[in-house]
Amino acid sequence: MMKFAAATAQLKRKLGARIVRTDGAARREASFDSSKILFDAAAVIRPRREADIGVVLALANRHSVPVTTRGRGTTLTGAAAPVRGGWVLDMLGLNKIEIDGEAGMAHVQAGARVAEIQRAAEAQGWFYPPDPSSKEHCTIGGNIACNADGMHGGKYGVTRDFVVALRGFLPTGEAVEWGTATKKFSAGFNLRDLWIGSEGMLGVVTGAVLKLIPQPAERFTLLTSFRDESAALRAALTLFRARVQPAICEFLDRESVLCAERAMQTTIFPGQAGRPVILLELAGSKLEVREQRAQLLAWAKENAAGHRIARSRDEAEQLWAVRRKCSGAMFELGDAKLNEDVVLPMRSYVKFAQFLGRLKRESGLHVPTFGHLADGNLHVNIMYHRADPKETRAAEKAVDLLMRTVVSLGGAISGEHGIGLAKTPFLRIQHSPAQVRAMRAVKDALDPRGVLNPGKMFEVFHVWKHPRLDVHLPWDHK
Ligand SMILES: Cc1cc2nc3c(=O)[nH]c(=O)nc-3n(C[C@H](O)[C@H](O)[C@H](O)COP(=O)(O)OP(=O)(O)OC[C@H]3O[C@@H](n4cnc5c(N)ncnc54)[C@H](O)[C@@H]3O)c2cc1C
Repeated sequence: MMKFAAATAQLKRKLGARIVRTDGAARREASFDSSKILFDAAAVIRPRREADIGVVLALANRHSVPVTTRGRGTTLTGAAAPVRGGWVLDMLGLNKIEIDGEAGMAHVQAGARVAEIQRAAEAQGWFYPPDPSSKEHCTIGGNIACNADGMHGGKYGVTRDFVVALRGFLPTGEAVEWGTATKKFSAGFNLRDLWIGSEGMLGVVTGAVLKLIPQPAERFTLLTSFRDESAALRAALTLFRARVQPAICEFLDRESVLCAERAMQTTIFPGQAGRPVILLELAGSKLEVREQRAQLLAWAKENAAGHRIARSRDEAEQLWAVRRKCSGAMFELGDAKLNEDVVLPMRSYVKFAQFLGRLKRESGLHVPTFGHLADGNLHVNIMYHRADPKETRAAEKAVDLLMRTVVSLGGAISGEHGIGLAKTPFLRIQHSPAQVRAMRAVKDALDPRGVLNPGKMFEVFHVWKHPRLDVHLPWDHK
């Protein structure tokens, strides 16, 4: 008999067979996320009303059924995969967006797509800056659960900085609201921030109020190249010391540039194949951009080996191609990627670049690295061939050394993707036993029966030891 069959039948009677799906196709679709490791969901629940979630969780507690909340399943860490089976709560049907143009706030349901929120805000002259590259697919609920971000973090902040209030359900099924649609709220413990980044383990977000800022009136895009990685990172530090705050400051190391150049079949700076680059974008009022543009150009002339200015939005798009192409093109270097999103303090940039050079040499692997220099969030991609045991072992060793080095340099093992399953082997490198105990105590207090997203964060899971599905997802590059 199927596990959790009696509880599932009871849930079906309460919510109906259109909401509680047990057919093979629906269950399979919900049984893995972007980490592509397959588990087995007993049912998929697609609530039409937020109140349905209270019913699901109350019943899950009564019958000890694991519940995994799912936005779009774009997480790369396995956080949305039902590792213990049970029910998957699919939030995509709850997707309303309303912009309060007067207050500069967006009232959204958790299943709303991030790019849709940005477009709705823009239509009224407002801007919602957090922009993960997956924004056309991922949901705001998923972004809140992972404290996601993208290229704008250095200037504007991360998802957490834009969440004014949240509503949803505790793991026990009780409805709660953390905060109101007001700019200030000091009434009691701040459990709103406890939910942000809790990866669906402390509650289900059904709705959020988001802060918006005025749309920037002007943008200016510049692509710069450097002799080597250390020169690029030193130059970026010079820029920040001069108080220039680019809205975007994307770094690509030599290997990432070579990947992009191969994919685009061109050299970005003629005669300078494979030079590390920094792609910069200023954004703000016309006056602010004009002032910073002069500073930026003077900086480029003094520090960069080459630079190209975008004279129009079309030209800016052409410069952006290098950043967009690099990630997918990395699969030329191996069929498997350990995609890390570490964060470094700025003072450690150059030491980290030197470490990466050593890591590549000593592991014998390709480790193309790119990321957001204004907030230190670097995407380190350890490439290997899954069928090659020597390379797999080298990748496993390399990722462990990477995490230890990042923490010893004062950094963090994740800046935006979270822990999920993939980073569980490294949680205790970042956190002391007392810190892990405190986190577990919070989890136990809010989720006494351990129903919400069990098996994640605290229990060690080695993703590289598990077979990965050979499926093409809509957001896959290749
Ligand atoms: C091509 C690609 C590019 C990416 N780029 C970025 C990037 O630039 N920046 C970045 O930060 N991430 C990035 N990601 C990772 C991913 O898109 C983010 O983690 C995103 O926040 C996940 O949103 P989702 O809706 O897909 O959530 P899911 O993947 O479905 O879930 C992620 C986690 O959130 C929880 N969750 C989802 N909805 C809720 C809810 N309503 N209430 C409580 N918990 C919930 C889930 O249980 C799970 O733990 C990228 C992924 C891909 C595939």
